[in-house]
Amino acid sequence: MRSAAFFAAGLALLFVLFVARMFAGPLAVVKHVPLASPAVVRAVVAAARHVSEATRVPPPEGTILDAPAGYDPDGITVPWPEVLAVLATQRENDFAGLEESLPACVDRAPPGYVRDPGGGPGRYVRLERDRRGRERAVDPVTVCSEWYPRAAYEAARAVAWEYADEHEGAARVRRTECETTPDGRTRCRTYETDVTVRWYEARSLEEVMTRLGLSAAERGQVRAFLAFDLTSLRDLHDALPGGDGAPCAAPGWRPVPQPGWIWPVPGVFRVTSCFGPRVDPVELLDGFHAGLDIGAPTGAMVVAARPGRVTQTGPAGACGLGVRIDHLDGTATRYCHLSRVDIRPGGWIAGGAVIGAVGSTGKSTGPHLHFEVYRHAGPVDPLLYYRP
Ligand SMILES: [Zn+2]
Repeated sequence: MRSAAFFAAGLALLFVLFVARMFAGPLAVVKHVPLASPAVVRAVVAAARHVSEATRVPPPEGTILDAPAGYDPDGITVPWPEVLAVLATQRENDFAGLEESLPACVDRAPPGYVRDPGGGPGRYVRLERDRRGRERAVDPVTVCSEWYPRAAYEAARAVAWEYADEHEGAARVRRTECETTPDGRTRCRTYETDVTVRWYEARSLEEVMTRLGLSAAERGQVRAFLAFDLTSLRDLHDALPGGDGAPCAAPGWRPVPQPGWIWPVPGVFRVTSCFGPRVDPVELLDGFHAGLDIGAPTGAMVVAARPGRVTQTGPAGACGLGVRIDHLDGTATRYCHLSRVDIRPGGWIAGGAVIGAVGSTGKSTGPHLHFEVYRHAGPVDPLLYYRP
């Protein structure tokens, strides 16, 4: 009897541990992910873009013969998830003060728009003539990067600019100058000259944090934020306790694959994040969710959705450990965040063959398969192939 009671107590303890383990993921998400609103994320993305545009320096006139090492007139790319993580750390995840009076705004004024003289900073309008030929301003828009006081934008831009390391150096260019002589002939002369060129290089996150004076604890916090996939904030809602199933595939949903297609995680149909609709302003920017997230435990089998040639395996940035398969009809499928890859690139693979196992590598909020389908080089909603 006693041993039976002990056994029951042991079982109960195991169950508690199991439940605690299950919730460890979601709780960690609540604690660590910057809980920024879409407005703040938009401001951060706009600020990062602004820096990318502002650091594009037109190359000098003529043909460059010799330039300093590292010279690159293209603007730098500022990683907005890093900016958001730094801001969240600096503000202890409290964006309230930043969000006040954020208007709807656009990255840049649409073509044909002019600055509205009476409209304040960042206001642009379209000019239209009425029947009497009088000009009037219509359809005003606000350009995010020019509107003040946009606290969130300003804060984000301050962090984003820390990424831009400015350089200057001497370059040699060849130029050709032509002139028309009084007798109507064109005379050209080619010469070489030294000019000063300016360019930007992106600093690393570590350097940026040093420049911003973040403490060791704060740096750890930033890295913890970045362990999660900030590019698909939609994931967060699904990862929070109580969230189960995404709107594109309600709980109990079952795939009905199109001919030749196989569901990539056999037996697991829990879709935790949908293919991002373009109407979402956050997703519309850099964070567009280009795939489908299938919530499955680490180690769950992942299979090829259809036959094809394996074109990539191994670590691939935010995708983590990934696999890409090109199919004969021009579609391709990609599998991300794997814990293990069982195949090599170059070979042909049958539909349904095991390619690896679910994991949480790369920028991921927890174990799941991020599954992408490409058609005509662009990502499409994978569910297109799993519905009648
Ligand atoms: Zn995903």
